[in-house]
Amino acid sequence: MPAMSAVWIEQEPTPASGERRIERENHKLEKRLCRLVGQAIVDYNMISAGDKVMVCLSGGKDSYALLDVLLKLQRRAPVDFEIVAVNLDQKQPGFPEHVLPEYLKALGVPFHIEEQDTYSIVKDKIPEGKTMCSLCSRLRRGILYRVADELGATKIALGHHRDDMLQTLFLNMFFGGKLKGMPPKLVSDDGRHMVIRPLAYVNEKDLVRWAEVQAFPIIPCTLCGSQENLQRKQVGAMLKDWERRFPGRLDNMLHALQNVVPSHLADASLYDFKGLAAHGIADPEGDRAFDPEDFPADAGLPALQVIRM
Ligand code: SF4
Repeated sequence: MPAMSAVWIEQEPTPASGERRIERENHKLEKRLCRLVGQAIVDYNMISAGDKVMVCLSGGKDSYALLDVLLKLQRRAPVDFEIVAVNLDQKQPGFPEHVLPEYLKALGVPFHIEEQDTYSIVKDKIPEGKTMCSLCSRLRRGILYRVADELGATKIALGHHRDDMLQTLFLNMFFGGKLKGMPPKLVSDDGRHMVIRPLAYVNEKDLVRWAEVQAFPIIPCTLCGSQENLQRKQVGAMLKDWERRFPGRLDNMLHALQNVVPSHLADASLYDFKGLAAHGIADPEGDRAFDPEDFPADAGLPALQVIRM
């Protein structure tokens, strides 16, 4: 009879098998993070032999994960490069200044803590109740560029991920009237530094999970008392809702950022619409952007108009 009951009644997993499953999941997650970061580094030529990569560590889950994955990749990368972790202590009230040095010492990674009281400057300049993040980030950027120079860093690595990039794309469309995102690699505003975002292909959910797995000592970015940008929050919620209802949509959007067709947008500076003339050569790919058979039935598109030229 035990054999019979095993067929009908699902056995409770023994603790050992449950633990093994979690271990396997965590191992898969670690491999995925390393693979995606490695892929982004290769696709955008982010790190070269001899680079000194300054990893900006805020104390949030994303930057901890960035440092963690880069250290893993450093051990097996085909090129030699250095890593230095940098934290800017902005003197927010209650900032636990021992946390990062202790963590970094235990990790054995070279690091630098830059102490600059940007908190007082921002508090002084921004009226009560207004969001301080924009000025705070601008000040932080300037300081980090200076520190990169002082440390001789050739790359500045930031912990922005796929979802940050997509949020920025929508914010720029909604409020800036621009089709402009957050690139995986860019030259800094002052033209002197190379900024890289190795987490460009990584989704936020994986980073939340990895932070739990690794028990990173998270320092919240709300010590300053500033509200998170409301618009960014709303766009973030919109993206999360889409991903919940239509899994894979955000990855599709990331692919769209890598697959831009200027002839099917409307920027006359990117494509010569004025000089466009019929050339008599048929295009088998044609203009099929909105043919319904291209979309799965449950893609969540509103009553789709078939547009044919
Ligand atoms: S939440 Fe505070 S510390 Fe973080 S960016 Fe905004 S103002 Fe700066």
